[in-house]
Amino acid sequence: MSSEDRRQKTEDGTAADAPGPSSVLSSLSSVGVRIDGVSKHYGDITAVDGVSLEVEAGSFVSLLGPSGCGKTTLLRLVGGFEQPDGGTIFIGGVDVTNKPPQARPTAMVFQSYALFPTMTVGKNVGYGLTVRGEKRAVVRDCVERALERVDLRGMADRPVGALSGGQQQRVALARALAVEPAVLLFDEPLSNLDLALREATRAELKTLQKELGTTSLYVTHDQSEALALSDRIAVMREGRIVEEGTPEQLYHEPESAYVARFLGGSNVIKNVVLAEQLTGTTPPAGKVLAVRPEDLEALGERVEGAALAQFLSRQFLGTHAEWAIEAEGVSLRLWAPPTREAPERLYVRAKRHRWVQAENTSAPS
Ligand code: ADP
Ligand code: MG
Repeated sequence: MSSEDRRQKTEDGTAADAPGPSSVLSSLSSVGVRIDGVSKHYGDITAVDGVSLEVEAGSFVSLLGPSGCGKTTLLRLVGGFEQPDGGTIFIGGVDVTNKPPQARPTAMVFQSYALFPTMTVGKNVGYGLTVRGEKRAVVRDCVERALERVDLRGMADRPVGALSGGQQQRVALARALAVEPAVLLFDEPLSNLDLALREATRAELKTLQKELGTTSLYVTHDQSEALALSDRIAVMREGRIVEEGTPEQLYHEPESAYVARFLGGSNVIKNVVLAEQLTGTTPPAGKVLAVRPEDLEALGERVEGAALAQFLSRQFLGTHAEWAIEAEGVSLRLWAPPTREAPERLYVRAKRHRWVQAENTSAPS
C-alpha cells in the first residue's frame, strides 16, 4: 500500500501519512515547500499574483500583510483547498499542484478553529485519525499525546463547546498535530484571542514548533506576531510578495517604503528639504527617507541643520510617549521619554535612518 493510499482527509482539511503509533509527535519528518510563480484569480480580482516562495524544511515562515492582500488564498493553495490558475507548488520536492488536500502531507489550523461544537475534545482531536480507520487504542493514544503537547491533558472527555476560546484554539492545534503533518499551515490562529492570551499562546507556539521542527507556514496581519515567531517573513501586498527575509533584515534593513512602514511603523518622508535637514545628507535618486519614531531625536535647543518642528499632540504609552509633530508641512511621529515635557517648537534630527524605494502605487500613509 502506498503512503498516498493510506492517507485520508477530514472535512476540515487535516491530513498526513498514517502514523506509526510509536513515532507520533516525536519524529515528524519535515519537508520543504516551494511555491513557484503561483497565481489565483477570482473573476476580476487577482488574489495571488505570480508568487514564488521557498519554505525550508523545518523552518517557520510567515506571510505578513494587510487584510485582503492574498495571504489566506496563498495558504489555501498550499493546502490544496484552492487550485492555482498558474504556477507550481512542491512539497518535499513532489509536485502537488493538482493534488487534493487529502493527498498532501499538510494540516491546517483555521482562524475560526472549525471545531465540531457538539463533539468532545477527544473526538475533535482524533477526528482525522478515526476517519482514516485507525484503531481505537491508537487514536486514544495519539489524542492523549497531542493534548499533552498543548497543555490540555485529561480534557479528552469534555464537550468542546464548554471550553474557553484559548482552550478551543489549543484543541484546533492538537487536531492538526494528531495527524502528524509534515507541514503545518496556520491562518491567523491567534486573532480571536485577547492580547495577553495571544502573547502567551504565541510564546508557547514558538516553543512547540521548535520542539517538533515541523515546517510551518503562518498567515498573520500582525507584525509583532510575525517578528516574534518567524525564521523568515514574506511581506505581501496586493497579491504579491514585496520583500522576504529574516525578521531582523526586514526590520532593520527594509528595501521599500512599504515594508519600512508596515514593519516598525517608520516615518516615510518624500520631502527632500526635510529629508536633508533630518539626515544632513542628500537623498539618493529614486529613494525616500525612512525613520523610525524611536530614531527621531527631539533637541531642546536650536541646532544648525536640524529641522524645526511644531508639536501637535502626545500619547502616553507607558515605556515612552509618542509625539505627533509637523515639520516642513509633513506629519511625523516621534518617541520621547514618557515624562518629558513637550515644547511647542522643537528641533528634530534622525539618529538613524534608511533610504528606501518610494512606493509607486497608492498606499496607506
Ligand atoms: P487576506 O487573507 O490577506 O485577507 P484573502 O486571500 O482572503 O486575503 O483575499 C485576497 C483577495 O481575494 C481579496 O480581495 C478577497 O476579497 C478575494 N477573495 C478571496 N477569496 C475569494 C473567493 N472565494 N471569491 C472571491 N474573491 C475572493
Ligand atoms: Mg485571511
